Amino acid sequence: MAQATSEMEVRYQAKLRQAREQFAKTTQRLFVEEITELGSSLSALPTAAPWPLAVPAECPACGHTGFASGRDKQDGDYLQVWFLPRHFGCRLCGLTLTRWELDLAGIKAQVLNDDEEPDPDCKPDFETY
Ligand SMILES: [Zn+2]
Repeated sequence: MAQATSEMEVRYQAKLRQAREQFAKTTQRLFVEEITELGSSLSALPTAAPWPLAVPAECPACGHTGFASGRDKQDGDYLQVWFLPRHFGCRLCGLTLTRWELDLAGIKAQVLNDDEEPDPDCKPDFETY
């Protein structure tokens, strides 16, 4: 982010503002407990994201939990599985982010199995993608 006032940054901030307005409309008649409940039940739904992997991530617009989705990538001799985010979606405020917007939101590639063995049942077959 060399330029803080780049066109991308401006568009990103506009999206966040829109999402916050949408969130306010959705939640203005609800009590806080109901919003929390709504957030957790929505977060528990299977993701409709277009990518095979999804991990929870904090929504930069409304602060509730959304899902970053993307693909995984097995790295080198350490059998580390990296999650490479390509899309973020929040069901509470409707925010969706892609590519450079993910960078601005701080949603970055991460190691999924830092401390544990990869689960063979959850590993997608690379040959079929
Ligand atoms: Zn949100």
